[in-house]
Amino acid sequence: MKGSAYRKSFIIRLSHKDVTMEQIQVMGVRGLPLIHEGDNIAAMICKTIAVQNGDILCIASTIYSKAKGYTKPLASITPSKRAQRLAKLSGEDPRFVQAVLDASADIIMEHPFILSELSFGHIGVRAGVDQSNIEDGMVIFLPPDPMKSASELHTEIQTLTGKDIGIIITDTCGRSFRRGQTGNAIGWSGFCAIRDFRGDTDLFGHVLKITEEAVVDEIAGFANYVMGESNNGVPAVIFRNCPSWTGHDNLYFTTDEDITKRALKKKWDHERKDE
Ligand code: GDP
Ligand code: MN
Ligand code: MN
Repeated sequence: MKGSAYRKSFIIRLSHKDVTMEQIQVMGVRGLPLIHEGDNIAAMICKTIAVQNGDILCIASTIYSKAKGYTKPLASITPSKRAQRLAKLSGEDPRFVQAVLDASADIIMEHPFILSELSFGHIGVRAGVDQSNIEDGMVIFLPPDPMKSASELHTEIQTLTGKDIGIIITDTCGRSFRRGQTGNAIGWSGFCAIRDFRGDTDLFGHVLKITEEAVVDEIAGFANYVMGESNNGVPAVIFRNCPSWTGHDNLYFTTDEDITKRALKKKWDHERKDE
């Protein structure tokens, strides 16, 4: 292992009863170059750091999309009437707004920012389209099928190294109710998204009826913190010695379950009728 490849090593003690047990290590992968279309990021990461069985590798969607060419020059985009109307409202470049509309399967809200659902179920501000950490005049789209991407990375790394590791593709996302962005998992492989506590008993013997913990988002959140948002140059983070969990993969609400989405769509439809 190359020590220089690691930014820092955080040690979290999980158990106060036995502090020598269950230490999770979190390592930011430093030293990767600027990523361009055609780069093999799995090979580049595995060359930089020696992964071990059971590791969880978080990769910023930004570098995955740059490597796979899910990017576009703004100059190649012609804004529609709708994009022009929304760009006037937000003060954004109409070509950028068009990129957001193109990336969206369903627009939930148009203003004060576009909130949309992507075809793979994720709901995000501006459909996760970025203009940062890429050359001027370019936009980066989220990968169109991040679950497939994560699964392919999982297999590629297994072939390259012989190690079986988990993968999370992350993106920095806004959230409801609280200020500040956090990292979310948009694709994962090697484990399930949700740790299901339902049916488990608490310290007092009460049976838990509701709790489903979105573990992939919690790990993505910490990874995102280690990555930073600007010029840190840390697009991958390894977690070592995480306890395993069981549960399921239904991270996204169905339309029937999602009361927030329904309420926002209703409000927006109503406002459109008043226009
Ligand atoms: P996002 O959260 O997936 O949209 O990605 P960000 O733009 O926030 O970048 C996450 C991390 O990856 C930050 O530390 C960036 O500096 C870093 N990063 C972004 N692009 C590159 C790249 O091409 N090469 C390297 N080495 N780091 C990058
Ligand atoms: Mn992003
Ligand atoms: Mn980010």
